[in-house]
Amino acid sequence: MTNDRDGQHTERTAKRTMPHDIVILGGGPAGLSTALALGRARKSVLVVDGGPRRNAAAVHLHNFVTRDGIPPDDFRRIAHEQLAAYPNVETRVDRIASISGTRGAFTLRTASEVIDARRVVLCTGMIDEPLPIEGFAELWGHAIFQCPYCHGWEVKERPWGFVAHDAAMLHFAVMLRSWTRDVTLFTGGAFEIPAEIRPQLEAAGVRIEAGPILRLRRRGQTLAGVELDGGRFVPVEALFAHPPQRHVDVVAALDLARDEGGYVRVDPMSRETSIPGVYAAGDLTTRAQGAVLAAASGAHAAGMLNYELTAELAALGLL
Ligand SMILES: Cc1cc2nc3c(=O)[nH]c(=O)nc-3n(C[C@H](O)[C@H](O)[C@H](O)COP(=O)(O)OP(=O)(O)OC[C@H]3O[C@@H](n4cnc5c(N)ncnc54)[C@H](O)[C@@H]3O)c2cc1C
Repeated sequence: MTNDRDGQHTERTAKRTMPHDIVILGGGPAGLSTALALGRARKSVLVVDGGPRRNAAAVHLHNFVTRDGIPPDDFRRIAHEQLAAYPNVETRVDRIASISGTRGAFTLRTASEVIDARRVVLCTGMIDEPLPIEGFAELWGHAIFQCPYCHGWEVKERPWGFVAHDAAMLHFAVMLRSWTRDVTLFTGGAFEIPAEIRPQLEAAGVRIEAGPILRLRRRGQTLAGVELDGGRFVPVEALFAHPPQRHVDVVAALDLARDEGGYVRVDPMSRETSIPGVYAAGDLTTRAQGAVLAAASGAHAAGMLNYELTAELAALGLL
């Protein structure tokens, strides 16, 4: 006896051998949005979320229409309240340790459980690795941000800095001028600024500091400025940076095709990964990272997954 698509116990669904049509790894904006769409499509869905969330350091979430400024925990709470209206959607706090099997018959393991599913959706986000600069980890999410659309407005017109690791990131420093006149680019002495880009930085009034960064001077979670090797001090109140990111272990262990940035490659139409039956949405698939973008890609993955899974279930006589 299992729950049917409307959450009722019936004999008709007892022939189903799979407890879940779909298991979603991750309960951030991507996973929750995927679950909502699939729940509304009457699929049996399990969301397993192991925490912590990527934006754990952030006090408010911005740039998500209707939710601008919401505390991230409230964002998740509202999503869970809305998902609770769908008895065919279950959410669990746990961590998936491994995924094996093939399309139609996946096995997922937590420390204490084995879960079967016809399809898997990876929504595990990315893990940010703090830059090896004293003060960086403590200020991350408070005075150091990845995205000016998310946290720029609150510190607009203040002195800002941008830490770049390579020349490909330099145009970001020019874009920051949208929020403040006072932008300093820190290269940390890691690379030469290409001759063709320097005039663009100068035209935008971006100051350049090429010396190695010694440490960030701070009081608690407030940034005072950047100390450079040699004793120079640059006052800065907000710092932008794109630290390296890595996948969570369970994703890293899968033999998935990745793009040149290391993100999981998905078919642009279906959002299926290179492993048939495994879909992906949210930050782990792109450097263009934001909550509303992750939620949108989750809805996209759900729609395409449901399109092909419904045909399979119908052919098996399970609808
Ligand atoms: C400091 C900071 C502030 C930010 N502020 C904003 C903002 O204001 N506005 C905005 O739009 N964006 C913001 N972002 C970006 C935004 O947080 C991400 O783009 C968004 O959270 C991505 O959603 P996601 O669902 O892909 O991943 P996540 O939100 O990272 O969710 C992934 C979930 O998967 C879980 N998970 C991981 N591995 C497993 C596993 N093995 N088993 C089960 N669960 C697992 C994690 O615990 C996590 O809960 C911010 C990011 C940071 C770092």
